[in-house]
Amino acid sequence: MSSEFAIYVHIPFCMRKCPYCDFVSRPVDRAQRSQYLEALSHEIGNSPWHGSRAHTLFVGGGTPSELTGDEIEQIAEALSKTFSFSPDAEWTIECNPATVSPPSCDRLLELGFNRVSLGVQSFDDRHLSRLGRIHSSQDAIETYQLFRDAGFENINLDLIFGIPGQTCEEWLSDLETGIDLGPEHLALYSLTVEPGTEFGQLRDQGLLEPVDQDLLGDMYEAAMDTTQGAGYQHYEISSFSLPGFECEHNLFYWNNSRYLGFGIAAASYVGGRRWTSTSDWDDYLQGAAKGSVPEASKQELAPRKVMAEEAILRLRTRGGIVASELSDKYAREFDELFGDSVSFLTHHGLLDCTDSRIRLTRKGKLLCAEVWSEFLRADA
Ligand code: SF4
Repeated sequence: MSSEFAIYVHIPFCMRKCPYCDFVSRPVDRAQRSQYLEALSHEIGNSPWHGSRAHTLFVGGGTPSELTGDEIEQIAEALSKTFSFSPDAEWTIECNPATVSPPSCDRLLELGFNRVSLGVQSFDDRHLSRLGRIHSSQDAIETYQLFRDAGFENINLDLIFGIPGQTCEEWLSDLETGIDLGPEHLALYSLTVEPGTEFGQLRDQGLLEPVDQDLLGDMYEAAMDTTQGAGYQHYEISSFSLPGFECEHNLFYWNNSRYLGFGIAAASYVGGRRWTSTSDWDDYLQGAAKGSVPEASKQELAPRKVMAEEAILRLRTRGGIVASELSDKYAREFDELFGDSVSFLTHHGLLDCTDSRIRLTRKGKLLCAEVWSEFLRADA
């Protein structure tokens, strides 16, 4: 799997900007959309990794489901001409419940998509409105059913907890409604208020109260218990799946495998080098047309740094870390670098070391930021 790529394609269009969102996305007109897709096809076609194998595709955004079937086909064609996808490749597309119709579900299947990630966020219309979402709870339920009826057998629901004003009971009700639909995968995130967003400005003006940390902890613990009771495996901090339905694309990230991102502000990582494409619309269009998209940032990671990052990424997952594997991979003793941190975190109940694996405990999942800080401190 490690010699293959995970491919991400960014579609930066949304009908309306949600007040909590810091992704690179905005409303565009038809002409801008077609310019962008033209540039994207150029960028994909000019990839220096032309001819490489790819194991997953994730079309995210933004709102990829705003694209027409023909527009998605344009992207799929550019990708299929450039990369050789494994026959069992996972192809995911993110969809917003207000932007999907029965023909579009059928077309996605025909184009090769076999996984859908639905941005539901909540089943409570008051909270959806608070989040600035353009869809209702009923839209989400109907859209889920459209994909099922079309034949999709792998569906993820994104849900958010810690929405301002949301109680733990309301969160559990959202989660139970989601579980009752029977999705194969759930991605459960706490709302983070990012600088530069409308919510961020409201917070800075004192008009948005930060959600109580204890309440967030209670909501996360309730999510762990409820999903487990319904047969979902908690295989990554925010990710829960029925057995065999882990998101293969995201596993590439968490296993520190290589990935390529296409589109504005997309991130790539190959051989210890990480870079992010420009988030400037005009720079992106001009660069892609000339065959070279400008980078907004790039980083060559020293092997020691890569090892620390891989340790943190793997700790996010149920499999955790096998210290000897990391030592062999990086020709560096894991224990020499991180042994003290592991002992310290284990002593405080945040890590568990059994069966030669180091894993987050339940407390460690709740306090994962402390765990990452400790690993980064050891690496400094
Ligand atoms: S639909 Fe998603 S990407 Fe678009 S603005 Fe809302 S949260 Fe951001």
